[in-house]
Amino acid sequence: MAERSLRGMSIGAKSLESDENVDFAARTDVAYVCPKGHRTILPFADGAEIPDEWECRCGATAHREGDEDREGDEIAKPTRTHWDMLLERRSEDELKALLEKRLQMHREGWIPDYE
Ligand SMILES: [Zn+2]
Repeated sequence: MAERSLRGMSIGAKSLESDENVDFAARTDVAYVCPKGHRTILPFADGAEIPDEWECRCGATAHREGDEDREGDEIAKPTRTHWDMLLERRSEDELKALLEKRLQMHREGWIPDYE
């Protein structure tokens, strides 16, 4: 009965059908994290090829989260922001000097305020 009435629908039938297929397939939720910390969760059908990278909504390249089997410990580390990496490379004093220099440049009109 229901099947017959579905078949009779000309426009909606096709999209309805594909929605059903997605729902019935076993899915794996894969999380991607971009350098800015955005988390994107995408459902992949079981057996589908899951990419290691995904373009985040902000345009940055997000990497697969929790993929411990990957070689190199860099990926297994908790997500670091650009700020974290900056702090690792420079001491606080250096950062203060940099900030001061940057602010001075803004005051003098060398660089426009983007934000
Ligand atoms: Zn992002």
